[in-house]
Amino acid sequence: MSALHSDTEVVIGLEVHAQLRTESKLFSPAPVTYGEPPNHSVHPICLALPGVLPVLNERAVTFAIRTALATHGAVHVRSVFARKNYFYPDLPKGYQISQYEDPIATGGWIEIPVGDGEGDAATRRIGLTRIHMEEDAGKSIHDSDITGRDATHVDLNRSGVPLLEIVSEPELRSPAEASAYLRALRSILRYIEVSDADMEKGHFRCDANVSLRRRGETRLGTRTELKNLNSFRFVEDALDAEIQRQAAVLDAGGTVQQATLAYDPDQHRTRVLRIKENADDYRYFPDPDLVPLVLSDEQIERVRAELPELADRKCERFRSQFGLSLYDARLLTASRQLADFFEAAAAIHGQPKPVTNWLLRDVLQALREQGREIEDAAITPAALAALIRLVDEGRTTAGSARGLIPELVERGGDPEAMVRERGLEAVSDAGVLEGVVDEVLSAQAEHVQRYRAGEKQVLNFLMGQVMRRTGGKANAARVRELLAGKLDDR
Ligand code: ADP
Ligand code: MG
Repeated sequence: MSALHSDTEVVIGLEVHAQLRTESKLFSPAPVTYGEPPNHSVHPICLALPGVLPVLNERAVTFAIRTALATHGAVHVRSVFARKNYFYPDLPKGYQISQYEDPIATGGWIEIPVGDGEGDAATRRIGLTRIHMEEDAGKSIHDSDITGRDATHVDLNRSGVPLLEIVSEPELRSPAEASAYLRALRSILRYIEVSDADMEKGHFRCDANVSLRRRGETRLGTRTELKNLNSFRFVEDALDAEIQRQAAVLDAGGTVQQATLAYDPDQHRTRVLRIKENADDYRYFPDPDLVPLVLSDEQIERVRAELPELADRKCERFRSQFGLSLYDARLLTASRQLADFFEAAAAIHGQPKPVTNWLLRDVLQALREQGREIEDAAITPAALAALIRLVDEGRTTAGSARGLIPELVERGGDPEAMVRERGLEAVSDAGVLEGVVDEVLSAQAEHVQRYRAGEKQVLNFLMGQVMRRTGGKANAARVRELLAGKLDDR
């Protein structure tokens, strides 16, 4: 963003489509699946066969309410499904059922961390405009047919899958903030278990709107919209490229044209797909096949009562209950599964500090290396607690224990048995250790003298010698005791 003047302000608003974790589709009993052969998860309703009528999925409604409540929005007791009309081969009805003038929720906010998070509690609230329910379209697949000619196939497995569209106010001020917002939103959706929000599977997709204006200006500049950004990195890079493009246009005295763009990561450039259509091009109107959705207050309160503790609250609790730093508490509560794992392991082990350290340092590193999340790891809270206890009791060394973590994460296992079977027991046997200590003391007479003359740091060298002779398996605390005892005694 080198081309940006310091008096230029970046304005970003995001539209996120999150796929809801329902078993069946929004208006049809067809199952929501992933990776099935084309057109196997369909029902006459998804195919728009004549005479079919949509039936609303109650679970999707619950999930929409839950999301609105978790983001402090107002749930409307009355909302309306509308037809958004356009022609595309993957849209057999010729319209998509969405919500337009009367969405299920408006307002609310998401808190994003600003600053580095290291001892820095600063957050900023990003306002939400609205949350509404809609159905997904099918998919066009462009490839060659059995005769080898170019062809386009239509797969309707995705047709009618329930989505939540979550629209932010234009309150984000940099690509980094946009990405922080997306992470915070994804974390919330996963905490409340309404969406897997798996970006690789397209469960969490983002369109980014961006414009520039002079600092102090209150009117918004003309925006462009970047379509279908499906990774955090991609969102940041695409916004960065588009900001540079708009800045160059404005610098040259030109005006930005409202348009929909795609991002080319190879060239780090954005490219115009089409000049933006207006909302009235879609000829929205209330769907006559669906009555307005009317909720009762009890229904909304029932969903509120079921809301789990969310990340912000949990983070505060971890700090006060376990005495953790803000930094550690934020890392541990970034995902509900990690937070649950931590609490379970800390309860079994009894001490939160070592559990935090082993989890955030060694387990997270193994997860990163194996490309896993804690919920797909084979290690259990009990196994981690048991491993740490073996170290606490001096039955194995920290180094040996650390070496077992990748395997525990990948395949699981009983730490005690692993330590035994692999000969990783620390040597604590007083007789064995004393023998080695005596050997070292007689072999290193010169160092012994220096120690006794007052050079106390020589103890570390002598420790090192004992560790070397035991192949690193000596219980370090015992060795130190034995050495100090013998050196100070004589
Ligand atoms: P649509 O794109 O469907 O027409 P909206 O006009 O409501 O919908 O805007 C969608 C998104 O664009 C929202 O997230 C909003 O905050 C953002 N947005 C609107 N105007 C601007 C602007 N001038 N600059 C940046 N973002 C904007
Ligand atoms: Mg839009």
